[in-house]
Amino acid sequence: MTRHTAARVFHWHDTFVHRSRLEAKVESISGLRVGAGRAMMGELCDLPVLRDAAGQPFIPGSSIKGALRSFAEALLRGMAVAVGASPSAHVSLDRVACDPIGEHCLKVITEEDKDTPGQGGRSTALRERDKVELVEGNICLACATFGAPHMASHVRFADAPVEDGQPAIRDGVAIDRDLGRVAGAMKYDYEVLNPGATFRLQVHLNDDQPWQTALLLLALEELERGGIRLGGFGSRGMGLVSVTEKSLHRLSLDDILDGGQGIELDMAQVRDQGIRELRTLVEYRWKEGSAGEPDTTEVG
Ligand SMILES: [Zn+2]
Repeated sequence: MTRHTAARVFHWHDTFVHRSRLEAKVESISGLRVGAGRAMMGELCDLPVLRDAAGQPFIPGSSIKGALRSFAEALLRGMAVAVGASPSAHVSLDRVACDPIGEHCLKVITEEDKDTPGQGGRSTALRERDKVELVEGNICLACATFGAPHMASHVRFADAPVEDGQPAIRDGVAIDRDLGRVAGAMKYDYEVLNPGATFRLQVHLNDDQPWQTALLLLALEELERGGIRLGGFGSRGMGLVSVTEKSLHRLSLDDILDGGQGIELDMAQVRDQGIRELRTLVEYRWKEGSAGEPDTTEVG
């Protein structure tokens, strides 16, 4: 039996290690709708799609990120349950992927970081170094990858202009949920991107660890499989996409210093290595949580 402290699960942004870029071509199979909310006066339809300043439809990176993150969180919790965590053991599951609305993994910092002036001018706010330690000891694997209130995200999803396919206007009718029939005078129209519309997915990863890259690749595979839908109106069958032309590029410190172009990584290799790391981390994290010992655990 050896006793050791928690492994470092991620790099901080203050030291450059490398930068990766995951790209893919995404094509709408069933129609895609990322809406701008209710139309402004003078628009052509009630529920338009999002457009940039030049009027070009685009898919906001945040909407793709949100969809992939939700899946990644469910996957992390599922992996913890598969290696022995109880599905109802919130403490240990939160160590793997917290509930952002309920007990957020970094809530402890918000609580300890309350500045209380008036005690002889002495501030009890956390020093930066204490904060770093608290984050490292408490952050869940989902927040360590996708970001949290006290931690910038390791992944940035770029907004993606729609390359092929213009939006089409469809008619909708509001159904009275109680009566199950069309509510009088509740017709509206909405815009969708037709099947065949494409955009380039581009994700920038800062100092990503293999397990983080693998987590993202797994979410992308689920999108490809149809298990994740993008945008709204999923209940009407929208948001199914195909994912092709995937690539993973990496720029090292030397590339930055020597003006190098970086290299294309073998995705299968990164995926395999990352999943091995992910399994170890998930198991370690939930056991750590269930033991109620924040920074140490028994490893046999
Ligand atoms: Zn978290």
